[in-house]
Amino acid sequence: MNLAKARVLISNDDGIHAPGLKVVERVAKKLFKEVWVVAPETEQSAASHSLTIRQPLRIRKLGTRRYAVDGTPTDSVLLGVQEAMRDCPPDLVLSGINRGGNLGEDVTYSGTVAAAMEGTLLGLPSVALSQHYLDRQKVSWKTAEYWTGKVLRQLVKLDWPRGVLMNVNFPDVPADDVTGIEYVRQGRRKIGGDLKPGMDPRGDPYFWIGAQRDEEKFRPGTDLEAVGRGAIAVTPLTIDMTHVGMLKKMRDRQP
Ligand code: MN
Repeated sequence: MNLAKARVLISNDDGIHAPGLKVVERVAKKLFKEVWVVAPETEQSAASHSLTIRQPLRIRKLGTRRYAVDGTPTDSVLLGVQEAMRDCPPDLVLSGINRGGNLGEDVTYSGTVAAAMEGTLLGLPSVALSQHYLDRQKVSWKTAEYWTGKVLRQLVKLDWPRGVLMNVNFPDVPADDVTGIEYVRQGRRKIGGDLKPGMDPRGDPYFWIGAQRDEEKFRPGTDLEAVGRGAIAVTPLTIDMTHVGMLKKMRDRQP
């Protein structure tokens, strides 16, 4: 794929006003021929791959090649490809840049990854981009801004198969301190979500799900370990979630 001749569709799950969207737009305008943005009106983090089917969706034009959708990241990519860009389909779909990493089991909750999944289902090469942070008030956007172009140039050369999307995570270190781009597998944390109990102003108890707690050490060769060490983690993910090894074992034992 020749990026300078390509048309790109950008979406996200942090919403049309998110700072990470502005970062990826700035990068994309330098790299691609045409940049289209179709993103959710409001933040949809942890929306996963949800599709709005019980109510109508509205797409609002905000400017040239720029739209907001009152739905999920999945709705946005679907409307982006089939409505906003119906006469000029994108060559590539980018989702992000998410505020926070999408590492390990995050990918199963992530709206950022889901937007790339939707692009993949529509037959388009798709990349999810996330900037990991340790302090939510100090997100290293400059690291993602500096490295996104380099990562994309490297990835498009791979010409990956249909049904595979790329999950990219930038580490929380200054751009100059990034140790490199590493191809790694999806990791796994051991500890569950942080469930905080509280009391609402009307006296009813509630629970608020907090962040996943990271462990000190993760398995080498995983996204969690690579990003924790200061590398950019790139993981190819498949839409087909079949566990081939288990399927074979089950068939072998079928009476
Ligand atoms: Mn998000």
